[in-house]
Amino acid sequence: MKSTLQQIRPDDQSSLISWYHDNHRDLPWRRTQDPYKIWISEVMLQQTTVVTVLPYYERFLKAFPNIKKLAQAPLEKVLELWSGLGYYSRARNLHKAAQALHQNGGFPQTATELEQLPGFGPYTSRAVATFAFQEKVGVLDGNVIRVLCRRYGLSVQHWIPKEKQVLQKIADDLAQVKTPDILNQALMELGATLCTPQNPSCLLCPWVSRCQARQSSTIALLPLKKPRATFETWVWQPQVAIQKGKVALVQNPDLPFLKGQWVFPGPIQKMKSKPARFDVKHGITKYDIYIQVRKKKSLSSQDVKWVPLDQVKKINPTSLIQKILEHSQK
Ligand code: SF4
Repeated sequence: MKSTLQQIRPDDQSSLISWYHDNHRDLPWRRTQDPYKIWISEVMLQQTTVVTVLPYYERFLKAFPNIKKLAQAPLEKVLELWSGLGYYSRARNLHKAAQALHQNGGFPQTATELEQLPGFGPYTSRAVATFAFQEKVGVLDGNVIRVLCRRYGLSVQHWIPKEKQVLQKIADDLAQVKTPDILNQALMELGATLCTPQNPSCLLCPWVSRCQARQSSTIALLPLKKPRATFETWVWQPQVAIQKGKVALVQNPDLPFLKGQWVFPGPIQKMKSKPARFDVKHGITKYDIYIQVRKKKSLSSQDVKWVPLDQVKKINPTSLIQKILEHSQK
């Protein structure tokens, strides 16, 4: 792979760090070097905005102030405190990883070791390693990808792992400074506040005079856009049986989404087009789900668990299950 070192100007790092010192937002996870707190914030911030995460972060740490408390908590309680943040597999993996960390006696200090833990992908491992332990590794999230593609004028298909390596190499090269944690925070902050997807505030940017996308008028074209995933259409007929204030759920046997979670039983089928009639429509990642609710008086299956209606949110807090339940109680 072509070295990227020559693309980095010697004062790229210093100008970025000095801009960060003067301009960054004061966020609670930036005031700590506790790997546990940093880890929680990083997992919450994936796919979710800072403003949304703030109250969740405070509540979560109040309930689970350390690895031990999280590892020993029942999964239901963890999911309950996650309720509303979406992407619940993150909460399940967090719980699993906390148990592994607790058993191992705490956090390893390098990204390579962290990546062996459940739910620790390259991004989370690098973020924890650099923010908590000052490891000199670059952290590549969507904001950083955008900044690097524009600053260095790179038409990289960043969703393809081999091509993403070009950006990872630049991020790693940039992180070879005394304060890699600050450098990484600065790159993320630049992407979040100035180098935004639309209408970036280039005149305030520390790299304005050297930004290759700006010089070649290609800001709107970079980073390249990932081709849209093809969506799948599914029709699900959940059977909703409510008796004496309890509803019947099964541990997901067939649905391609919400794997391993407690859901309503009922057949599901992949279709070529959407059905003429449906009660609820819901989207999860690439799945467009059309739901035809089937109300039942009873259900006789050994696998069924009868859950009090006011406990369903604890067992499965996803909005899909809530929507179906609300519809069936109309
Ligand atoms: S000059 Fe503009 S496009 Fe270039 S890195 Fe700065 S904010 Fe982004």
